[in-house]
Order: sequence, then structure tokens, then C-alpha cells
Amino acid sequence: MTEPRRIGRRAAVKLGVAGTLGALGVGSFAYGLSTTAREGAVDVFSGDAPSGALWDAWRGRGWAREARHYRVLGKNIQCQVCPNECLLRPEDRGRCRNKVHKEGKLWTLAYANPVSLHVDPIEKKPLFHFLPGSAAYSLATAGCSFRCKNCQNWEISQKKPEELKVVDAPAIRIPRQGSLLLGPDAIARLTLEPEEVVAAARATGSASIAYTYAEPTSFFEYMMDTARAARAAGIKNVAVTNGYIFREARAELAKVLDAVNVDLKGFDEAGYQRLNAGKLAPVLETLVAYRAAGVWLEVSYLVVPGYADDLGMLARLCAWMARELGPDVPLHFLRFMPQYQLKHVPPTPLATLREAARIARDAGLRFVYLGNARGVADATVTYCPDCRQAALERNGYLLVTNALDGAGRCRGCGRALPGVWVK
Ligand code: SF4
Repeated sequence: MTEPRRIGRRAAVKLGVAGTLGALGVGSFAYGLSTTAREGAVDVFSGDAPSGALWDAWRGRGWAREARHYRVLGKNIQCQVCPNECLLRPEDRGRCRNKVHKEGKLWTLAYANPVSLHVDPIEKKPLFHFLPGSAAYSLATAGCSFRCKNCQNWEISQKKPEELKVVDAPAIRIPRQGSLLLGPDAIARLTLEPEEVVAAARATGSASIAYTYAEPTSFFEYMMDTARAARAAGIKNVAVTNGYIFREARAELAKVLDAVNVDLKGFDEAGYQRLNAGKLAPVLETLVAYRAAGVWLEVSYLVVPGYADDLGMLARLCAWMARELGPDVPLHFLRFMPQYQLKHVPPTPLATLREAARIARDAGLRFVYLGNARGVADATVTYCPDCRQAALERNGYLLVTNALDGAGRCRGCGRALPGVWVK
């Protein structure tokens, strides 16, 4: 269902395409979009690729690299990292803002190009069953494949890399020990190669590197190379993602990911289109795929009033999770707070969150948490499903009690809890 579509004569005509596509063996056409109108395709940024001195600088700083998972369609290029399948004419920019078609190739503008760097508790991702109490060296670039009206990080996710980096001041390379928490001005000039990310993670005592804040699929190449370097160095990799990724790229990523938190935005297609400008089905496929691949999986769900808080829908979601993912995948219901384009929407009532948790537990899910819900008792406590002893207790993002033994077994009854407990 979410495989890149093969574009035949009919679709090509619909898109306003003509030419020859012999090199691809996709019939006797090539793409040659004559207008910016692409019926049925996602919006892209027409003619928006950097050029001249800016492009030269971008290449000089190491921020532009050839992308992966794309195909050349005559004069045009189709990116195949995510289900947006951006179809780009020369000098176009993809929907995530990070990919451009130049010189007959697809380029990422986000390589070695972080715009945000922090050392976070792993609980902040949230990942509650993965090396609890450990630090995650967390990074993001600009860009995102979605358009969530409620985005917390829109200042980076809905920006082009060029809007957040500068090239008219001297470049900065490896952050010095003690200055790993760089300010925005320094990060704007920073080139941070994958091996340097790994070194920074090690220097900060981080057990993992987290690809987070914006959408890491939109910096796929940088994430992949960093994750490979981290794996070789014995540092774990975690992604916090919307799950919008095609099978080939996902399979490649799953080989180096240790844990993933997928931010599920709703449980119906119309809601996904309305709130996020995305599609649900590919995300569900990703959840199943990561679980099957053995990547530790947790699911987040922001309960946005009026958009994603229908209790019947939540019941269907929880039943689906229990059936397709099993009862041991943790589910985090998160409280919405007014922001970005939904400043007029009130916070999620705590009563709604409590009801969502009840629905999830009734569906058989064993580990249900409530985020941003101070005042709700037990919102972030992990209980042993057998003896009900509190195994992990948190105060905000801080782990305050760990009553598991070194192998992740309940000290009360000896039951092994699902998760990754050993570095
Ligand atoms: S990764 Fe970016 S350029 Fe590629 S298909 Fe997705 S939105 Fe488009």
C-alpha cells in the first residue's frame, strides 16, 4: 500500500508529463512537468533550490550531499524516502524542505547540519522501557514531511535549512569539550559530521543518540550515517518520528535503530489529513514493521481536543495496537497544550486523558502512560503487570526509582518486563 507508486502513462498524463522514460523501464515516457500544478501529488517548492554563492557555500560546508532512495524520471527526480514521493523538476525543493534537485541528482541540504543539539533524559523522548535514567545526545536538522497544526517545534520543522544556518560567518567544526551545549549562533555555523556526533555523545556520557525534535526521516542520510557510526562505537540509536517512511528506507534504518518512538497523530485518514497533512495507513505499516524487525517500539499519541480526542476512535486505536503490536508496546497519551496554529484550542482535559488510559487498559495494553499530566496519580509509573509493584517511578522526565534488577526483572515477583534494560 505504501510502496512507491510506479507511474504509468495515465498518471503521467494526469500530472502533465511527456517524454521518454526508457532508462527506467517504466514504459516509453519520461517526466517533463510543464507546469507547477501536480494534481494528486504533494506540494513541493517550485524552483526553490539554492543557487550561486549559496549553493557553493552549502557544498563547501559539507551540508549538501547526494541523497539516497530516489529515481530519475527523465528530466525529473522522485524522492522515495517517504510516502510524499516528491516529484521534482530541476531546481525544485521537496516538501520536507531538505531535498533539492540539482545537476541531475537529488541532494540533501541537511547533512552534518544540525540546528538543535541537547543532552536529554531518555524519558523525554518519551522512551520509558529503554535504558531508563540514561542520557540521549539529541539532534535535529530543519525540515519535516508533515504540516502539523499543533507542532511544538515548528520553528525548526517548518523551516528550510538556509533559514536556520548562516554562511557569511566563519564555519565551526567540532565542538570543544565543555562547549557541547552550543548556543544558536554557534550551531548556525556548525558542521557536525557523523563521527563527530558520536564523539560528542561519548563525551557527554550519553548511552544513545536520538534523532528527534523535527522529523528525522527528512534528514535520512545524516541519520543513517550517524547511526552506523554509533552502532560501530557501541552507542545506541533512537528515533522519534512520525513514522512516515517507505519500506526500503525503513528496512535500512531498522538495521541500525535500537528504539523508536512513533508519534501517532490519530486513527482515521480524514483526521490525519486535517491535522497533519499526512496519511495514516503508511504510519500503521511502519509500526508493524519496526515491531517485526525487533526495534524497541513505543507509541506516543497527542490527545488534541476536537481533532484527535474522540473516545470511540481511541478505542479502535487501542484495539488495533493490542491486536497488531501486542500488549507490551507502551502507549503514551500526551496532553495537548495550545501552540502554533492551534493556540485557540484549550489543553486536553485531564478527565479525557484518564478516560483514554482506561480505554487502553481495557483493550489489554499493559503499559499506558500519561504525559504532561502533572496532578494525575501514577501517570508515569511502570507497574509490574503480575504483582503490581511499582518498578519504575518518574518525576517529570527524571527517573526517581528503579526497582528492576539488572536484567529488567521485577524484584517483587521476578517477572521480566518488556524493554531494553542493558547497555
Ligand atoms: S523525504 Fe522529503 S523530499 Fe523525500 S519524499 Fe519525503 S518530503 Fe519529499
